[in-house]
Order: sequence, then structure tokens, then C-alpha cells
Amino acid sequence: MGDAELAALQAEVEALRVELAAQQRTVPALPSEHDGTPITWRPWTSAPLLSHVDAACPQCAHPGPSLLTFGLAGEKQKIRFQANRCPACQETRVYRREPAAYGLPRVILHEIAYHPPRSEVPGGR
Ligand SMILES: [Zn+2]
Repeated sequence: MGDAELAALQAEVEALRVELAAQQRTVPALPSEHDGTPITWRPWTSAPLLSHVDAACPQCAHPGPSLLTFGLAGEKQKIRFQANRCPACQETRVYRREPAAYGLPRVILHEIAYHPPRSEVPGGR
């Protein structure tokens, strides 16, 4: 590998490092616990697109899909929490998931944390 090639690679690595640092600054931190219960968060993934739900972000009109992660808690590490985040403006909502006590099996979401959209992000408000 020549010197020029090496220098180009090093410059690329440096650029990626800067980009990563910027990303880490802008992604809101998820709560590490709720009411004393530690939460283990899975990595962020793209939320499934549902034909009957508009995937666009209501804040910045990013077409989606939004990002989704689940938080595990309790002795059996079950999914007890979830968070949704817009990849553009970083608006984030964190929910506690509660199975409905009556009726059809479903999960009721209780919002426990909210990070407003970042206005400095292009396309954000
Ligand atoms: Zn957004």
C-alpha cells in the first residue's frame, strides 16, 4: 500500500469518526431504568411499515420508516418497554408496555419519556 493510499484511508477513518461522534451526540439517550427497574435496550432497528399507518414523521415529514427498539426488564428479561425515534429529527418517545387486562390481547403504551425534535437538523423544525 502506497503512502497516498494510506493517507486517503486515514482521512476516511477520521471523517467516519467525526460523523459517528456527531451521531452519538444527537441520538437521545434511552433511560437505563424506570421506577428502579433496570432496562436493557436492544439495538435500534427500522420499524415495520404498516399499510394502514402513515410512516412519515409528524414533526419533520421524514418519509420513514422510523426507528424502533425494545427494552427488556425483569428477571426473565421480557420486553417491557419500547422507544420510537425519527432518524432525521431524532424526536423520540419512550413507552412502558402494559398488556391489556381485558378484551383482545394487545399492549397499552404509556409514555415515560419524550425527546423533542432537534431543530438544528436540516429538515427539522
Ligand atoms: Zn422527524
